[in-house]
Amino acid sequence: MSQIVGIDLGTTNSLVAAVIDGKPTLIPNERGKFITPSVVGFTDTGELLVGEPAKNQAVANPERTVTSIKRLMGTDRRIVIGEKEYSPQEISAVILKKLKLDAETYLGSVVNEAIITVPAYFTDAQRQATKDGGEIAGFKVERIINEPTAAALAYGFDKGGEARTILVYDLGGGTFDVSLIRMVEGAFKVLATTGNNNLGGDDFDYRVVEYLIERFKDKEKIDLKNIPDVSQQRAILQRLKEAAETAKIDLSSLLETEVNLPFIYTEGEEPVHLHETLTRAKYEELVRDLVEQTQQPIHLALSDANLAPEQVDAIILVGGMTRTPMVQRLVRDEMGKEALKDINPEECVAMGAAIQAGIKRGSLEEFVVVDVAPFTLGIETEGDKFSRIVPRNTAIPCSRKSLYRTTVDGQTEALIHVLQGESDKASQNESLGEFILSEITPAARGDSLVEVFFDYDVNGIVKITAKDRKTAQGKSITIKASKKRLTTDEVAHAQRDVSRHTGSMLAQRERSKVLYEAESTLKDLTLLIRAGEKGEKKIDSIEISRLSEMANKIKEALKSEDLSLLEEHIEKATGLIADYSY
Ligand code: AMP
Repeated sequence: MSQIVGIDLGTTNSLVAAVIDGKPTLIPNERGKFITPSVVGFTDTGELLVGEPAKNQAVANPERTVTSIKRLMGTDRRIVIGEKEYSPQEISAVILKKLKLDAETYLGSVVNEAIITVPAYFTDAQRQATKDGGEIAGFKVERIINEPTAAALAYGFDKGGEARTILVYDLGGGTFDVSLIRMVEGAFKVLATTGNNNLGGDDFDYRVVEYLIERFKDKEKIDLKNIPDVSQQRAILQRLKEAAETAKIDLSSLLETEVNLPFIYTEGEEPVHLHETLTRAKYEELVRDLVEQTQQPIHLALSDANLAPEQVDAIILVGGMTRTPMVQRLVRDEMGKEALKDINPEECVAMGAAIQAGIKRGSLEEFVVVDVAPFTLGIETEGDKFSRIVPRNTAIPCSRKSLYRTTVDGQTEALIHVLQGESDKASQNESLGEFILSEITPAARGDSLVEVFFDYDVNGIVKITAKDRKTAQGKSITIKASKKRLTTDEVAHAQRDVSRHTGSMLAQRERSKVLYEAESTLKDLTLLIRAGEKGEKKIDSIEISRLSEMANKIKEALKSEDLSLLEEHIEKATGLIADYSY
């Protein structure tokens, strides 16, 4: 039987999980880790790299490395690598395909179906793009669920029937969501959801990057933002971004951290190094307004759900960014209580997705999840007005009908512009597309009535259908071409493209696994040699030289990336290390 997995497709990192023996379980990647960087790289020879190996080559090869693709989902942007152009859906599909291969290897069975999570505040275009990404990767996408809802499911999984109101505060790598969820005896009902699709950890990193650039300019009189050599410029920015992220993460547990970037720039023959101390206080000053931007969505969610902070029983923090002390303080101050400490903010979304997969597969008892429409859905009417059809926070799936009267004698076609958003002005909302309604029965002006149905499906994806009122016949609706959406043909074509890479992705996975094992073995060996030299372990000098010889052999084989030789060395070295593990 084919398995269904749950996938948290994050801006920075992604995770995959499944229900195993009745429990949601995270699935490790080839390096034994649950977290896989959402990074895709293309080597000069056209080979695809995904996850850790892609992240590792980002500095050396920034122009052929794609990060934070989630931020471009649902847009018409294209990523140009060499001669080829990729849609955000295709790049996401590569990440999803890798998670599929990880799951298949771990579970020992084919995985054809997936539940994929998205930020609750994702628009129709972003949800559709995610679903297409899943299909390009070779999944049947069973359902798209909201990240906060998944987190609440993970929390409520073993909590029994007690009624509780939960606030989920989700600050990830690129997006921010707040959801209020009421849980009663296995039923999860979303009461309200708000957020900001353009606020996340990346923005915090860039604040630190800007600061480092400013400080470097003051000290060295060199502007790292204005380096004439484009590829050097990119590599510098990539190194700064990575160092900024590391510093940011350090400052969640430390009060001060060092940023060291040796050889950041070469002036003539002279290398210039970047060295900076960053305190938590300075960092907090740099990002205060970003943290404060999360305040208003909390208020809005509470007022939409008609709740006061004290009526909320539990607060769940989701996303790596919620490890930031300043973020935790803001949530505590707004809500008047501490968030739960026993929920892992990086893992709970994938766990919730796995629970939803288990429900779908019938291997878990039924939970009922009722989510809501994140945005008001409506159409443009004369004078740039926005006519609301489905208000935000309406429980989904839902369907609303609207009646149209023809405005011209003999009219056979009509154009409907569908939008999502909260502004009274159509032009300020997000356009979903223009739909051409054709085959209207010709009649005198006002005589022909067309019923248009606006459906939000269970995934939060909008579907528009129409019917001639008189003839009760379905009318065809075509979306005017938009690069934001892929056609069925484009999805099928991309699917073939990605599946062509399966063999090389498997080989790459194996290579990454062996290289990682070799590096870990080398680390263990080095520690053992050092312990022997210091006399902390009793190892005679002949043995120490044997161990050193082994370490050198691994180093050599790592340089040439000779996988079969590495495997041989790893086996021998593991045996040697085991002899001393007393
Ligand atoms: P997510 O993928 O939703 O877990 O969020 C990833 C974001 O969380 C990235 O911007 C990470 O840099 C950030 N992050 C991860 N761990 C920490 C930490 N300990 N403190 C602060 N931010 C973190």
